[in-house]
Amino acid sequence: MSGYILATSLPVWESSKAVAFDVNVPGRRSRVFIPKKMIREESGKTYVSEWIIQKKMEQLNRDIADAFLRDFFDADQTLDEGPKVIGESLPGVIALFDKAGESIKYPKLRFMVDGIEVKARRAGDRSQNPGCVFLDNGEGFHSPDRQYFGKIDRDGEFTPGKDCIEGVVEMLRALNADPDGTLRDHGKASGACSACGRELTERKSVELGIGPVCRQRWTNQ
Ligand SMILES: [Zn+2]
Repeated sequence: MSGYILATSLPVWESSKAVAFDVNVPGRRSRVFIPKKMIREESGKTYVSEWIIQKKMEQLNRDIADAFLRDFFDADQTLDEGPKVIGESLPGVIALFDKAGESIKYPKLRFMVDGIEVKARRAGDRSQNPGCVFLDNGEGFHSPDRQYFGKIDRDGEFTPGKDCIEGVVEMLRALNADPDGTLRDHGKASGACSACGRELTERKSVELGIGPVCRQRWTNQ
């Protein structure tokens, strides 16, 4: 129970956080809710984490559990799990962007991960997801080249996007645990400031892996 399996029917209900399936057995109906973070979309198909399906089945009567699996999923069609992100909690990243948000209207960071430029930005206070952090490669929403790596909610919960790769999760874990050190290491490795993107030229900035203004806005040093 580690992958995702294909959902063969559409949910009957959907909110911003969850979907629901109505399971029918003779004389009875049960509504089963699945958090959206347990769902992956791939090539226009919907896959649901086997782990959550198993959990839900444990809570249901046997005949309803069987019907749930049989009527809504095709266990032969699976999706590799990819990065292990279930329960990934990144409150340190939210705190980092909140701090930067005190002096920058739209805080952004950029990192090179496995040769891909990953941009993290804090959504503005008037957006649909105020204060959440979104990760993509910076291409416009309608660009075919756009890669979407995921979203971090206000409570730190990470929901991976369709293009999320293990390297992005690892970078986020590092940023969560040690923001200052991660900004320094990425800046030193790339030779550019992870916050403003400018090339680091001053000796001290090169040493610290971040420019003086960004250092003040983004770090505790
Ligand atoms: Zn900078």
